[in-house]
Amino acid sequence: MRLPVKEGKIDEEKAKSYILYLIDHGVNYIDTAWTYHVGDNEPFLGRTLAGGYRKRVKLATKLPSWSIEKNEDMDRILDSQLERLRTDYIDYYLAHSLVGTLWDKLEKLDILDFLDGAKADGRIVNAGFSFHGSVDDFKEIVDAYPWDFCQIQYNFLDRKNQAGTEGLRYAASKDLGIIIMGPLRGGKLTSLVPPAVQDIWDEASIKRTPAEWGLRWVWNHPEITVVLSGMNEEAHIEENLRIADEAYPNSLNKTELQLVDRVEQKYRELMNTGCTGCRYCLPCPSGVDIPTCFEVYDNMYLSGNEDEAKLMYAAKPGGVIRDGISSYASQCIQCGQCIEKCPQHLDIPALLKTIAERFEGPDLEIWKDAARKTFRKDLRLKEIKSYLG
Ligand code: SF4
Ligand code: SF4
Repeated sequence: MRLPVKEGKIDEEKAKSYILYLIDHGVNYIDTAWTYHVGDNEPFLGRTLAGGYRKRVKLATKLPSWSIEKNEDMDRILDSQLERLRTDYIDYYLAHSLVGTLWDKLEKLDILDFLDGAKADGRIVNAGFSFHGSVDDFKEIVDAYPWDFCQIQYNFLDRKNQAGTEGLRYAASKDLGIIIMGPLRGGKLTSLVPPAVQDIWDEASIKRTPAEWGLRWVWNHPEITVVLSGMNEEAHIEENLRIADEAYPNSLNKTELQLVDRVEQKYRELMNTGCTGCRYCLPCPSGVDIPTCFEVYDNMYLSGNEDEAKLMYAAKPGGVIRDGISSYASQCIQCGQCIEKCPQHLDIPALLKTIAERFEGPDLEIWKDAARKTFRKDLRLKEIKSYLG
């Protein structure tokens, strides 16, 4: 997902050299999706892995769940992916980016029959799903099918967010392979480290970068099968290869784990709302996605990047990447139902009012337009529809 780009397109020469170098140095799992790089990622990988490299890796790609309108779409898209990737089989095939409502839709469209069929005819080897919803929905999906694996967002700041530690342990108890995405929160745990956080890292007797601490913390969990780490600079590649060689499950000692806990605590103090992302406050009768509104707002304080926060507010609560359904802070009617459900005792309606004032000004539609262009869902749908005829 994070390949180097040049003039808005994948920088093929650089990206190919990185990927082949990584495979030559032991990386054996490559993750892509129908939609990455506006549909260019799978064909690029097909070209890159041709000539012997394909057989040296486990290849993972994903069904664009939000674009599926009928059962036949799934077979046609999978067949197209095999063609784009120049392969006869996908080692790890995922229903992409599930939340509860998307899962309900896919279940009604008989995705389970599709997965059974694709496994039986050998087009996919392992069936799984990637997930961004609540832990309750996660457990429901885990129980709905004999999945081989799942993919969840997990890092030391997201222990109670989405599937979180509870979901991780639940999936492990059901013998699912567990692939981790966002081990560094999309780079946020490394790109702008607040000085108060760096002070804590500096107390460690063994000096490590924030990236190394973040990755080691994830790899420390014995339940985890694979950690996905986006790398778009040569320095990231060498650092990731080195850490992967050294970071074994249960390799962090008690003092080191306490240090990470203190860093987490410091991040929480610096973030504005105090929300842990547990989602106990949901559902909201007015459809406000409370934790996502808080997450976008908090990320703005961590990164110092207001433009990026406004873009993500338009993309997520604005519905651009969520089936077009808006879940804005301003939809709050101050009914108060959520307050007693929040274990952090946050004054949710008051916080939402502040967030609406900050993000829902006259420029909201401009940011929504920018989000549509950035995430190019319209283009993906057009591409899929033209393929489906
Ligand atoms: S107070 Fe607002 S956010 Fe909370 S449940 Fe009521 S409408 Fe939803
Ligand atoms: S507002 Fe409270 S209940 Fe809702 S996700 Fe955040 S911490 Fe959890």
